[in-house]
Amino acid sequence: MSDATPAVQRPAPHGSRDSAFFWEGCRRGVLMGQRCADCGAWRHPPRPMCPHCQSVEREEVELSGRATLYSWAKPVHPPLPMFEPGYLIALVDLEEGQRMLSNLCDVSPEAIEIGMPLEVFFVETAEGGAVHQFRPRQAS
Ligand SMILES: [Zn+2]
Repeated sequence: MSDATPAVQRPAPHGSRDSAFFWEGCRRGVLMGQRCADCGAWRHPPRPMCPHCQSVEREEVELSGRATLYSWAKPVHPPLPMFEPGYLIALVDLEEGQRMLSNLCDVSPEAIEIGMPLEVFFVETAEGGAVHQFRPRQAS
């Protein structure tokens, strides 16, 4: 074990055949989305059939990684050994329109504002995986 290994390592995501592209994107540092190839509606979480037009045609698209905060929560109990205490759960609205569940990082609860601009980043997990996280967007 190297010094760079965190004391708590998150478990690897285990997705389905439909979401494999999403988790592979996380390992490459790219947020991916699934879109209906017939009507263009976004599907999140990824699934076999479009809920709008029932098409099974789909395309996998790179997303901007930009989002705004829709809601958040700070779990208190029970503590989970695979998460550092004090983590925040966030629901974010992606720039492309999907709402996504993730974690909110690099911000104290006192500084959080609903609607604040966020950006995605990725953290490694066990088994060589990666998961998406969000943090306040840096001014560019
Ligand atoms: Zn559709």
